[in-house]
Amino acid sequence: MTPPPDQKRDTGKTLAPNLPDYERARAAFSWQQAREELAGMPDGKLNIAYEALDRHLDTPTADRTAIRFLPREGPPVDISYRELAERSNRFANLLQELGLQPGDGVYCLAHRIPDLYAAALGTLKHGCVFTPLFSAFGPEPIRSRVEIGEPVAIVTTERLYRRKLAEWILETPSVRHVLLIGDVADAPDGTLDADQAMTRQSADYATRPMNPEDRALLHFTSGTTGKPKGAIHVHEAVVAHHITGKHALDLPPEDIYWCTADPGWVTGTSYGIISPLTNGTTMVVDEEEFDAERWYRILQDQRVTVWYTAPTAIRMLMKYGPELARQHDLSRLRFLSSVGEPLNPESVHWGRHTLGLPFHDNWWQTETGGIMIANFTSMPIKPGSMGRPVPGVEAAVVRHTNEGIELINDPAETGELVLKTPWPSMFRGYLHEDERYRKCFIGDWYLTGDLARCDEDGYLWFIGRADDVIKSSGHLIGPFEVESVLMEHPSVAEAGVIGIPDEVAGETVKAFVSLKPGFEPGENLMKEILGLARKRLGPAVAPRQVEFRDRLPSTRSGKIMRRLLRARELGLPEGDTSTLEGGKE
Ligand code: AMP
Repeated sequence: MTPPPDQKRDTGKTLAPNLPDYERARAAFSWQQAREELAGMPDGKLNIAYEALDRHLDTPTADRTAIRFLPREGPPVDISYRELAERSNRFANLLQELGLQPGDGVYCLAHRIPDLYAAALGTLKHGCVFTPLFSAFGPEPIRSRVEIGEPVAIVTTERLYRRKLAEWILETPSVRHVLLIGDVADAPDGTLDADQAMTRQSADYATRPMNPEDRALLHFTSGTTGKPKGAIHVHEAVVAHHITGKHALDLPPEDIYWCTADPGWVTGTSYGIISPLTNGTTMVVDEEEFDAERWYRILQDQRVTVWYTAPTAIRMLMKYGPELARQHDLSRLRFLSSVGEPLNPESVHWGRHTLGLPFHDNWWQTETGGIMIANFTSMPIKPGSMGRPVPGVEAAVVRHTNEGIELINDPAETGELVLKTPWPSMFRGYLHEDERYRKCFIGDWYLTGDLARCDEDGYLWFIGRADDVIKSSGHLIGPFEVESVLMEHPSVAEAGVIGIPDEVAGETVKAFVSLKPGFEPGENLMKEILGLARKRLGPAVAPRQVEFRDRLPSTRSGKIMRRLLRARELGLPEGDTSTLEGGKE
């Protein structure tokens, strides 16, 4: 195990982490106390946007940069907390003028431009329910989500409207308003130039006090399995967004924080909009998509101190080798973290060697609304482990029995990861799917659908989605452990592992790998990779076959879609592919 790194803040000073003593913080923690860190509103009401913006306006934070926007081209644009509050007020006033009522759905289909953030916060201020959609979605996934959620308004850009919505959205019964943000040259019939309309609105708006249990956000899950589900979150969730950002991402106000997740994914909302703002930090928002050189330049030029990214991005940076990283001054970085997929030990080590700091993995889901398990600054990292539960959250590993579930105490045994209910950001339902929601719980426990192991120190180790786990000759094999070993081979950029039916073993392991630049697929390389896997994993667990692919199917949030690899391999129906990166192939 590695000792925690020095905590260098942007000032160059060494400061104590927000959570200096995990055990003590855990023992002393209460959600009530966490709530008291926020302002709240009279009579026990609250509003996410009030905590993100309004409550800072009487403090020096008001003039601090909330968003440092990096347009595709041209210099950065700084937007202060006050300016963002005013812009979101104008948006809330516009919704009011258009007759939207609290509880009405507002969807947003836009790439990362400042008014996406103003629209999200203005929607919450007005008590409407915000749903972000990936701007890269094609018309079909947008349409299916609109049909499920029946929004009253859609916020988008002129370009996206023309390309993806124009042909059908105006006939959709629920949608009464299409609001165009960003530069609008010529608002088509049936749409409103919201950019211009906002300039006529007042910059003052009295944020609506909401009941903590009022709906605030509707997030569609990323669809690594089955059909998309709409997970409902409430205003109370802000308590978890705030405190987990502080504890697990170690966000203090003086940080320059960059969450690379798009707000179309839950991470990009919880930790790409809400948490950094409630914590008073400056967040970098890059309009552009991944580009290794651009990313290193951003880390350097914007003096990013806290960076929250995803394993897929880390693997892409690894593909480019260490030289590119070393050409940049990354000395301001003090905390690196990752979410969304298992973080291979190789990536943790790479961070340490190449960027000077290890990556801290953390785990959560759309349904949990916020980080549940994390490697904290003050704890030694165990590479390959998701870490320990955040203060306020109890996690356990269970086996299913005829009577229900039973806690597993054996650190060697794998079971389903469960979380003790409730916590503030827990989803409150799947839209229109009560039965599906109920099935997620047994007694006090929420069933995550992930398999894990809990070691003697209380660290949790991800094994796989229950659906992805391979059963071979009586062994339960998590794709992640196999993929991690494959990734150790210098040629392997990405690996995805599935089970394929086998008469004798039940299933055998098959691996798909994509190679780093400069490596060519071939018999010899395949043998080398298989040899490494056999040596490290043993013949029962190692893949029998390796197939090379230019790239592996992954979701837009960066998760390898093993379900799809398997369906394609076995000629099964592909199911929902709306979140597939690059669209349907
Ligand atoms: P989503 O709801 O789309 O964010 O997906 C949640 C799922 O992503 C989890 O149930 C896990 O299967 C996976 N996941 C998220 N974070 C991690 C992590 N740190 N390690 C392993 N799997 C993760």
